[in-house]
Amino acid sequence: MPSFVINEKCDGCKGQDKTACMYICPNDLMILDKERMKAYNQEPTYCWECYCCVKICPQQAMDVRGYADFMPLGAASTPLRGTEDIMWTITFRDERIKRFKYPTRTTPEGSIKALEGFPEAKAADLTTQLLLGEPDIMGVKELPTKKK
Ligand code: SF4
Ligand code: SF4
Repeated sequence: MPSFVINEKCDGCKGQDKTACMYICPNDLMILDKERMKAYNQEPTYCWECYCCVKICPQQAMDVRGYADFMPLGAASTPLRGTEDIMWTITFRDERIKRFKYPTRTTPEGSIKALEGFPEAKAADLTTQLLLGEPDIMGVKELPTKKK
């Protein structure tokens, strides 16, 4: 089931140019209604329930209803993201609650240098079938291909 916004909790990320949910959604689905200062999922059918928006929302105003096969009606799984870990609160239908905390980092926050170790991207790369850095980044001289 796609993501949805709990209106009572959403503060529109205080009117910033881009809200946290807009920034993080890999599918560009989230949009801010600037009159109401409430975000919403503009195309629920394209939501792949990745939970990114749920995890990043600073107000815990986003939720995703899990599929019935693992999340029966009345149950909920709620993430709470910290800088070092993420805590999942699982609420069962009989109101039992269990919490699981998982570390999310192996390096200090802000220390990762994006694309470190990759060659500089060039426009000509768009004409090849290879992804950035291939085949060197894979540790091979050439990628294995199906022999014709
Ligand atoms: S990230 Fe949360 S608080 Fe911010 S606009 Fe989206 S739903 Fe609202
Ligand atoms: S669950 Fe994922 S795909 Fe769906 S709106 Fe949130 S960030 Fe986008």
